[in-house]
Amino acid sequence: MKPVVFIGAGPCAADLITLRGAQRLAAAEVVLFDALTDPALRELAPAARWIDVGKRGFCDSTGQVAINALLVRHAQSGRAVARLKGGDPSVFGRLEEELQALAAAGIEAEVVPGVTAAVAAAAATQRPLTRRGSGRSVSLTTAMTRSGELQASRTADTEVFYMAGRRLTALGRHLLQAGWAADTPVLVVSRAGWPDQLQSDHRAATLAEAAVLHSGRPTVVTVGAGAAPLASAPQRGAGAAQIPLRRLARLTP
Ligand code: SAH
Repeated sequence: MKPVVFIGAGPCAADLITLRGAQRLAAAEVVLFDALTDPALRELAPAARWIDVGKRGFCDSTGQVAINALLVRHAQSGRAVARLKGGDPSVFGRLEEELQALAAAGIEAEVVPGVTAAVAAAAATQRPLTRRGSGRSVSLTTAMTRSGELQASRTADTEVFYMAGRRLTALGRHLLQAGWAADTPVLVVSRAGWPDQLQSDHRAATLAEAAVLHSGRPTVVTVGAGAAPLASAPQRGAGAAQIPLRRLARLTP
């Protein structure tokens, strides 16, 4: 049996996948992919069977069991299986369960890292997550507990909250309860890196005003040092040059 390769697709434009990720994808015969991966990546493995496991219904814990079973079944069939995940597989990606399921079946795995949403948002908005003197630590935090409750914390100079997009008003309240000062800078970025990316600046006490703008979109909320605009910097980046996917494919053997 061939090892199953977990590939971080990055959060946005297809050319943000790593060269190694693109190479492994090109070699795959079966690709199990998530909702938040760029459909343009299909060009890298046009002959593979692409299976969408990101649909609603696969998101709960029953769905996770089904995904684990699919991974094992396709790997046991002897095909080269890629598991394509949004962002980085090791960050809020249920990688633990999937690795365990493969190990239990005696199947080896490889993990190729990707650009996680917090980092993509920092790049796209030109707000470095660390700052000399004020931002010495960064925390990637899910705002949701396993039981679906909202939680906020203050464990680092810059705290980036994932999975809070639907609950920005409540997150603002929780930030204050967690000890963040009312005037702490908060940067909200939804669909980071996509052409329709939105970003907005707030304070911990006024985060509720972001709720309508980012409603229904994948969103990260950066709080503290890394959210502050740079002194004398333009508010928006000029936009990264995009490598056409066909050129990317040529870079990969
Ligand atoms: N493994 C992924 C995270 C998956 S959890 C990663 O490393 O990025 C899903 C959460 O990621 C979403 O609720 C949202 O908080 C965040 N997210 C994913 N893509 C995003 C994007 N393009 N812009 C902003 N947030 C994103």
